[in-house]
Amino acid sequence: MKNRVMEGTILKVYLAVLDGCNINWIRDAETPFLDRLASRGAHTLSCRAVFPTATYTGHASIITGAYPDEHGIVGNQFFDREAGEPRNFDYYDPDQSIEAATILEEAASAGLSTAAIAEPVTKGAQHVVSKAYVQSFPVPEQNRIVLEESLRLIRREEPDLIIANFPAVDSVGEKYGPRSDEAIKIIEDVDSTLRKIFEEYYSRGREVCMIVSADHGMTNGEKQIQLNKLLKEKKLDAIALASHRTSHVYLKSPEQKDEACEFLSEVEGVLEVMERERISELRLLHPRSGDLVVTAMKGYEMGDTKIRGSHGGLTEEEMTVPLIISHDGLLTSSELEEASIPKIVEIIRKALRE
Ligand SMILES: [Zn+2]
Repeated sequence: MKNRVMEGTILKVYLAVLDGCNINWIRDAETPFLDRLASRGAHTLSCRAVFPTATYTGHASIITGAYPDEHGIVGNQFFDREAGEPRNFDYYDPDQSIEAATILEEAASAGLSTAAIAEPVTKGAQHVVSKAYVQSFPVPEQNRIVLEESLRLIRREEPDLIIANFPAVDSVGEKYGPRSDEAIKIIEDVDSTLRKIFEEYYSRGREVCMIVSADHGMTNGEKQIQLNKLLKEKKLDAIALASHRTSHVYLKSPEQKDEACEFLSEVEGVLEVMERERISELRLLHPRSGDLVVTAMKGYEMGDTKIRGSHGGLTEEEMTVPLIISHDGLLTSSELEEASIPKIVEIIRKALRE
């Protein structure tokens, strides 16, 4: 990566992550700005997310270009075997756990300035507007807060790279479900928010490469599976730590593995019980991963909270996300066809080099 500041170039990069955006919302919503961006640049509605389709995991892959077996953010929570306790990334800083370099660190070391807004993983960002701050506002106001903070940073700090998360998209999807009008409305609101951000760059004489994607999609998850309760009833010495529709299962007695596998496979709503080989195939095998990974059938949720929309699993609705790039030529058509969220880092890298 070159230091473009030295060369006097002015291309900025703004990555918008529409947290939990189902591709149908992009299809069905009235999004004149995103449509314009897609038609003049490049877009696909078949970009692949990473497994598990959980927020911390997806964002870690977006900002590092790595899969969970490399960056180590194996879900929204994991069991720390050394410390002997569960770690939930809502309370345990993921920046301390991430094991791959982030594009924010890479840009900073090339002399570029960076900012992260409402991002779950911010390692290396020079300016941070925390996710907790944005989420301290009611959900309907959160897009406006991301907008205000984006405009403030663009005016005052002029970062070369801004990565902004839109957590309200996920909150609305989880509350009202993937087929709701509310989900469509929030995408329409994001569309006008992004247009205002885009116009701000141009009003200041800056060209921006805007990239729009998501950490994962969204499917149904009304029916609950209470894995820990079931494991206890079966007298299996294990702990299940869920990221919504997928759960890592840590066995305290390794000799119970076959029995646990057999039992979990029979649980209503369980789609698949994965062992080491399968976990590895899905790029999730890491020292923090469970001895088993359990994923749910469509319509089932493993978390503690009752929600309508969910994610974490392997369905197409969860594994497929949009990718819209304002500039063409950053990806070849075959690269676009095979796009996945870890590839976003390469797009940012190329755009910053332009
Ligand atoms: Zn998410």
